[in-house]
Amino acid sequence: MRIDLTGRVAVVTGGSRGIGLGIARTLAECGAQVAVVGRDGERAAAAAAELGASARAYACDVARTADVDALVATVEREMGSLDILVNNAGITRDNLLIRLKDSDWADVIDANLRGAFATTRAAARGMLKRRWGRIINISSVVGLIGNKGQANYAASKAGLIGFSKSVARELASRHILVNVVAPGFIETDMTAAMTAEARAALEQRIPLERLGAPADVAGVVAFLASDAASYITGQVIAVDGGLAM
Ligand code: NAP
Repeated sequence: MRIDLTGRVAVVTGGSRGIGLGIARTLAECGAQVAVVGRDGERAAAAAAELGASARAYACDVARTADVDALVATVEREMGSLDILVNNAGITRDNLLIRLKDSDWADVIDANLRGAFATTRAAARGMLKRRWGRIINISSVVGLIGNKGQANYAASKAGLIGFSKSVARELASRHILVNVVAPGFIETDMTAAMTAEARAALEQRIPLERLGAPADVAGVVAFLASDAASYITGQVIAVDGGLAM
């Protein structure tokens, strides 16, 4: 089976590096036109240039709702549609509970959860009119099993799951499917700061004995965006080497 996304327009938030860039690259390889979104416009432009002529870059902070509404309107005008939304933008502000500042909590919830709400609400309007859409939210296994030092991040990622299931129920009758991909530990800037000891200990806990690559996550996202996944909605698919089974 070959995944063919020709004629679809995809928005990938946080598509300028890491997992998001891997997703943007795979969707483009499957024939989609891809809008690469990041806060840093130059980085997003470099990523879009790498993907080819059909990709475009947009600078937008998803934590700013007015900017998100403008982004979605601009993509629909400039690229002709918005069929596939991948809410991948995310940040961490890790600390143990008693040291977590209010701003650590607010920044993570705003970017990871409120951002996905804002993009989904804005994109759903056009999808409802066109009666077709795919929304894929990138959560984390940390949202399923928790992690010391990540109460804020885990809350945002668990929140995404409840959000996605509710929206999946609301939008299913219009052929708009909403699913969650929950990566385990993936090689990106986000995990690069880990010490060698922490990494070795982590690899021992993962049945497949390695961290994942962005491409491991991207393949599942492309499948969920495709016609092959047309009877799947409201699901959480872990891509974690077996960590959270
Ligand atoms: P990363 O390497 O740190 O990249 C984060 C991306 O998100 C960048 O493109 C960044 O763009 C963008 N971004 C961050 N905040 C944003 C905002 N407010 N508005 C718009 N764009 C924003 O992260 P990653 O490891 O690829 O992670 C991607 C997603 O997967 C995140 O949601 C993360 O929580 C999730 N995840 C990662 C792992 C892992 O092990 N790496 C595991 C599970 C889940 P700019 O810097 O240009 O703004």
